[in-house]
Amino acid sequence: MDNCIFCKIAAKQIPSKTIYEDDDLIVFNDINPAAPVHFLLVPKKHVATLADCREEHAALLGKMLLLAPKLAEEQGCGYKADETGEGKGSGGFKTLFNTGPDGGQEVYHLHMHVIGGPHLWRGQR
Ligand code: AMP
Ligand code: ZN
Repeated sequence: MDNCIFCKIAAKQIPSKTIYEDDDLIVFNDINPAAPVHFLLVPKKHVATLADCREEHAALLGKMLLLAPKLAEEQGCGYKADETGEGKGSGGFKTLFNTGPDGGQEVYHLHMHVIGGPHLWRGQR
């Protein structure tokens, strides 16, 4: 996609603060963070939205979901379960796909937000 900013980031034509990369994904810090930790998991191959994903994207979506907690941990907002199994545990993060105008999507190249930090959502529910 010629005019897609995330395709350009994946192709290294535009710089980004990359925190992880493999053959399928690039992960970089959001330029306008909503919280102390805010990064985006972005497939290198262009797909416009979550609603455009098909069966063939299942493995990619699974990979994104499984990678999110690992990178959140590395970035300082990992979730720790309560050792007793009774409490809520501590830490944690939001995962978010915005889809379409009513979903608040601004960049039409599939991405998953990971947003975290201490007491981020207190009083905002
Ligand atoms: P969305 O509303 O889900 O489409 O979110 C797009 C996100 O991409 C926003 O949070 C932007 O701050 C972020 N963004 C836009 N351009 C860049 C860029 N060049 N580098 C990093 N993040 C970006
Ligand atoms: Zn793209």
